Amino acid sequence: MKDVKAYGARAIDAPLELMTIQRRELRPQDVEFEILYCGICHSDLHRLKGEFGRSHYPLVPGHEILGRVTALGSAVKDFKLGELVGVGCIVDSCGHCSCCQEGLEQFCTEGVSFSFNGIDRVSGGYTYGGFSKSYVCEDKYVLHMPPFEQLAMAAPLLCAGITVYSPLRHWQAGPGKHVGILGIGGLGHLAVRIAKAMGAEVTVFTSSPAKVADAERLGADRAVLSSDEEAMKALRGQLDLIIDTVSAGHEVNAYLTQLSVDGSVVVVGLPAEPLKVSAGLLVHGRRSLSGSNIGGIAETQEMLDFCYQHGIVAEGEVLPVSQVNEALARLERGDIHYRFVLDMQEL
Ligand code: NAP
Ligand code: ZN
Repeated sequence: MKDVKAYGARAIDAPLELMTIQRRELRPQDVEFEILYCGICHSDLHRLKGEFGRSHYPLVPGHEILGRVTALGSAVKDFKLGELVGVGCIVDSCGHCSCCQEGLEQFCTEGVSFSFNGIDRVSGGYTYGGFSKSYVCEDKYVLHMPPFEQLAMAAPLLCAGITVYSPLRHWQAGPGKHVGILGIGGLGHLAVRIAKAMGAEVTVFTSSPAKVADAERLGADRAVLSSDEEAMKALRGQLDLIIDTVSAGHEVNAYLTQLSVDGSVVVVGLPAEPLKVSAGLLVHGRRSLSGSNIGGIAETQEMLDFCYQHGIVAEGEVLPVSQVNEALARLERGDIHYRFVLDMQEL
């Protein structure tokens, strides 16, 4: 085992503190990398606050992990020392169920292993996330990072990016499709950029007046303040697909109303409270309310290459990892346009 510095919480809702964790010795298929940057996702915050159920402590969050390879297991063929790599949410799965076989490791029927607060399928221990100096992961789950010019801001693609790319692809966002993005945070602002790059018409739905003003700059065709009843009414029945990224309890029926026949609201946000759905709105227009969870490994690589090709990275602030508690507090009160990325240099 190797001692590694990290920022983690020792109890539910406790502030993160500098600590030492242990990373495993390299197995033959393992890649070890020095972490350069790690994004902060709202899921890190939900878990720290206990909103995703019980956690194992110490809890080291972080699942938008970008770094440079420092060591390779004896059987690794596809990676080189010094190469830029990424790890997102998935670090293991059974590999043989129908989901794994189809590249849907996120739905592994035996249970997927997550990059933090997950189970190491070999040792039975817990995984520690990317708010740390280095990471060890089996090569199958490591992504090749294209040489993004704004490297730090490419880290959020590893969770936020794939979480919106996957449903946009699955529900065929593209030319002739009108796509709504609900909630313009880390996931939402990337969804606007990705949906536009896919060729869709994009409408933003936001609760923040400042984001209405910024939506066009992000690439949206229009933006609607969700409290503006007239503007909401004008879009009824117009949208083919709405990606719902909202992190807190909210009114979903107002968005079902915006769908055309056979349209779908796809929930990716994970509010702690259940959503209330009107059966009438679903049956009228054969509408659906569906969900999507991150994306498989091959699709994540496809998304990284797509974003590189289209010049898409996240936008926000890069902070030294020692400011992680400040960043989490600001994320909680929505004081961020649009993603925080932690710089691990000082660790
Ligand atoms: P974020 O940056 O905090 O963005 C969430 C956005 O939701 C906010 O910017 C805000 O957008 C809107 N919002 C927040 N509170 C609201 C409220 N009370 N009423 C209405 N709108 C509200 O979070 P994120 O990192 O993008 O993550 C979003 C959600 O997705 C989280 O729940 C996270 O856990 C989940 N997630 C799911 C997956 C998955 O695979 N399914 C993966 C990653 C994250 P406006 O200001 O525009 O209204
Ligand atoms: Zn995430």
